[in-house]
Formats: sequence, C-alpha cells, structure tokens
Amino acid sequence: MPAAALTVVMNIALAGLFAASYATIAFMNPRQRAPVWFAASYAVGMLTPIAQLGLASGAWTGFFGAMVFFTFALGLILIVPALAIFYGRPVPWWLIAALVSATFLAAASLPRFDRNSLRFTETYQLPFLLAMLAGVWMVVKHSPRRASDLVLALMLFLTALHFPIKAAVAAHFGTGVNPANYIESPYALISQVSTGILLVATGLILLVNTGLAVVRDSATAAETDPLSGVLNRRGFEGRASHLLEQSRRRGTPVTLLLLDLDHFKAINDSLGHAAGDRAIRWFAAMLNETTPQSAVVARLGGEEFAVLLDRSTRETARLLAEAIREATLSGGEAEVPSMTVSIGVADMRPEDSLSLMTERADAALYEAKRAGRNRVVLAQQEQAVPRADNVVTLRRRDG
Ligand code: GH3
Ligand code: MG
Ligand code: MG
Repeated sequence: MPAAALTVVMNIALAGLFAASYATIAFMNPRQRAPVWFAASYAVGMLTPIAQLGLASGAWTGFFGAMVFFTFALGLILIVPALAIFYGRPVPWWLIAALVSATFLAAASLPRFDRNSLRFTETYQLPFLLAMLAGVWMVVKHSPRRASDLVLALMLFLTALHFPIKAAVAAHFGTGVNPANYIESPYALISQVSTGILLVATGLILLVNTGLAVVRDSATAAETDPLSGVLNRRGFEGRASHLLEQSRRRGTPVTLLLLDLDHFKAINDSLGHAAGDRAIRWFAAMLNETTPQSAVVARLGGEEFAVLLDRSTRETARLLAEAIREATLSGGEAEVPSMTVSIGVADMRPEDSLSLMTERADAALYEAKRAGRNRVVLAQQEQAVPRADNVVTLRRRDG
C-alpha cells in the first residue's frame, strides 16, 4: 500500500473525529448553532479522502475525481456560514454564492489544461484558497481583537497560503499521469500530510474557540434573567460590587435605586399571569431605555428591580427615579397592564458595602410603600432635598 494511502485513511479518521466532536458539542448545547455547521464542514471534508481511496481503485475515476474536488471545496466553503453564525452575524449568502460559482468555474476550466501543468494545479487549488481567505475575512471582520480569534485567523490564513504552495509543488512533482495514479505520486504524500496537519491544527483551534464560546454563553446565561433579559440577582451582585469598588477608587458618587411594582399580585389576579409577565418585560425594557448605558439594571426577583447608577448624585438619581415613576404611570403599549412603581433611592457612603446600601434603599422603598406607593423616597436625609409632589425624603430613624 502506498504511504499516501495510509495518510488518506488517517485523514478520514481525523475529519470524522472532528465532525463527531462538533456534533457532540452541538447536541449538548442546542443554543449554539455554529458547531452544527463546523460538524457539517468536517463531515463533508471527510468525504474527500474517502473519494481519494475510491479514485485509487481505478473504477469510476470521473465520478471520484469530481467528488474529491467538490467535497473538499464544499467542506471549506461551509466554514464561512459556520463562522458567521459563530459570531452571531447574518450569513453572507452573496459570498457563499461567489465561492460556489468560483468552484464551478474552476472545475469547468480544468479540462482545458494539461493535468500536470502549473495552470491546472493553480486552477485546481484556487477555490480552496478563496474559501479560506473568506474564512480569514469573516474572523477579522467580526472579532478583530480577541486573541483566540486572531490565532484562528492566522491558522486559516496559513491554510489558505498552503494551497498555492501545493499548486507549485504539484506542478513540480506531478500528480500522476491520470487520477487513478494520484495516490502513488510523491505529491500525494506531501499533500495528504500537509492537509492532515492543517486539518488537525484548524480543527483544534476551532474546538478551543467553540469551547470558550460555550463557557462565555453559559456564564452570561447564569447572570441573565430569562423573562426580562436584564441581569438577575447573581449578575447584579457581580457587576454592582465591581462598580462600587471602582467608584471608591475614583472617588465618584454612585446611587442605588430599588424598584418594586405596586399591587402586582392584583395585576396577576385580575389580568392573568401572562399579562403580569408582559408587564415585567415591558418594565425591564423601559428601565434599559430610561437609564444611561453605564447603569447596572437588574431584576432581583418577582417584580423587584435594581438600578445602580454610576457617577450619579442623590439629585440626578432622584430625577431619574421620578422619570421612571412617570414612565411607568404613563404605561406602554395597549397590551401592557397599567401599573405604578415605588422606588427607594440610596447614595453611597464612604464606609458602604453593597449590602449596607441595599438595606438603606430597601428601607426607603418600604417607606414609599407605606406612604401610599407610586412615589420615590430618598434614604436617610443628610441635607435638605427639595420636595416634589411624589418625592418624600426618609428621615433618619434615630433622628
Ligand atoms: P406591593 O405593592 O406591596 O408590592 O404589592 P404586590 O402585590 O406587588 O406585592 P407582593 O409581594 O404581595 O406580590 C408580588 C407578586 O408578584 C406575587 C407574584 O405572583 C408576582 N410575581 C412574582 N414573579 C412573577 C413573575 O415572574 N411573573 C408574574 N406574572 N408575576 C410574578
Ligand atoms: Mg410589588
Ligand atoms: Mg415585591
């Protein structure tokens, strides 16, 4: 058996292993769609060495020859939609259509050249080069900074580069007098080994990147409230502690708003749980729109929310809380039940921790509820704060 045949068998096994690994990741993480495409890419790529073995048998050389060329091109082209989906971008169908057209054009021109001429080998490798360059472009365009993605881009680029080199090597060594002799040509061994190495390297880097994405995705999911899409309590505690620490170092003010929808049980009881859910979703979206980008917005549980405001004084926090109260009162679309909200506001003290600040905001919120709801209460007054209609200031309990 020629040495190249052995490497062909190895490449079938390697491509199969990668296809199976990606399929397993896809099966275990149904939310991730990219691994399905990576699995498809390697599964199609696996057909190439299988067709090469078929070719070596000497039967159906036209069929197997075409299968080698087209399955390899398709396997590489599939990387493009896979990467688009991996980065959460729309699939560039125009690019895929262009790559498929280039593949057919190349296939149509091949019979015009002598099998071992540079023109032939260059034309043969051209669609593969283009597909890999498209892959590099997808990575660099969508993730130009993350180190793991730059390593991937570099690997795809090296793979792209090896195709024109292979064309020169093929023309130099010859690829056999006819397709059936390919497997015995010195070029076959070089080609199978180089492709195998690049296949493994790219496959591993992609696998690591997919793994990292799965980890990032589950970390985000663990910190996100599925109903409203804002941070949950765990996510809030992490971000808020970080922001408090940062503000203490910088000496900038921070304020905390605790918000609780009024008589929410009555909304559920009269309009149904689904209407209650809509109200929660609407309220979370409104909070996101009303607060600055730097604010940490979270649903702490039930119908209770928190907003931590960076570089915000008592007064700006009060104004914002008032705006939120009014937006809630005005309501949203017709299908969102009308409701009101009570808000407790606390600013950061030098000795504060998140839990101390939360305690004071909670006391203010309790006071807002006690005073009749649909109002904003500032925790523990230090200096006179102007009283608006629906704004009261909670006095120190000891004062
Ligand atoms: P208050 O003005 O004192 O805050 O009264 P309330 O009725 O809002 O307060 P209470 O804590 O008694 O009731 C909160 C209600 O929120 C009870 C619960 O059914 C409802 N709730 C909690 N989580 C959800 C949810 O995810 N969806 C819906 N629809 N309702 C929820
Ligand atoms: Mg409530
Ligand atoms: Mg509540």
